[in-house]
Amino acid sequence: MANVKLNKLLVLTILCFQAAIHVLSISPSLNQAPEEHAASRLHKHDEANADEVHCSRERSRAAWKIIQEYLMPFVEQEKYQLSLHCRLHPDNDIFRDQEQHKIHVDINEWRCGYCKKSFRSEKYLDQHFDNRHSNLLNISHSKCLADLCGALHCDLVTDFKSRKAKCNPSATARNKHLCEGLADKCFPVNQGPSANRLHELFLRQFCDAHTCSGGQKPFSRGGKKHTSIFYLAISVLTLLLVAIFYAVVYVYRRGMRKDNQGFKRISRRGQKPKPS
Ligand SMILES: [Zn+2]
Repeated sequence: MANVKLNKLLVLTILCFQAAIHVLSISPSLNQAPEEHAASRLHKHDEANADEVHCSRERSRAAWKIIQEYLMPFVEQEKYQLSLHCRLHPDNDIFRDQEQHKIHVDINEWRCGYCKKSFRSEKYLDQHFDNRHSNLLNISHSKCLADLCGALHCDLVTDFKSRKAKCNPSATARNKHLCEGLADKCFPVNQGPSANRLHELFLRQFCDAHTCSGGQKPFSRGGKKHTSIFYLAISVLTLLLVAIFYAVVYVYRRGMRKDNQGFKRISRRGQKPKPS
């Protein structure tokens, strides 16, 4: 009888344990659910807009960021003017005007530069642009920067999961072709030494990494240098710390001196003979 009870208890314990493990194992996905929901909502939102604009704003922004970071510093260094026929030219980004009308007031405040309406995050401002100011977009297929994402490795700045995906030889070949086409169009080799150098740089920076054999990484020539800002921040911080240190020492020593004087006064008073 006691044995049966013990067995039942054991089974119940095991069941509880299994249930606990199950709950624990699914809890991360429960936590992710709202995000996924939001993502799917965004996706639907994108789909709804797809009739009007066949271009992803987010990926266009990623492409723009990469161009600014890993190409323009070199183009500026060569004092080279990108032609309008080059798809990397700022005028060939349909979202450029809207992006320039974003005012980032505060960490939680984004303002529309057209109508001055404020939003809690950039995402809502993007939606506002889609809903209210989409008439300002110059819609044209050749002006979608997101279309160049394959060539420019946008996945590296947007989401890290896709990097681990298995290499697809035909997609890689397509991206390499697109990439080399951009190099030819934007920096024609017959247009002088600057164009030549930039053509070469573009191939090294973006196109060489389109291979399934591995070993090649994009942006091998580096990007915009942030070191000056970094060093400035470090210097300011060091100066501030030194100032705080001296202030603390000063206050401490002043306090000590006052204490000493107070102590002397008390001890002097203590030495005074009491009037009888
Ligand atoms: Zn507005």
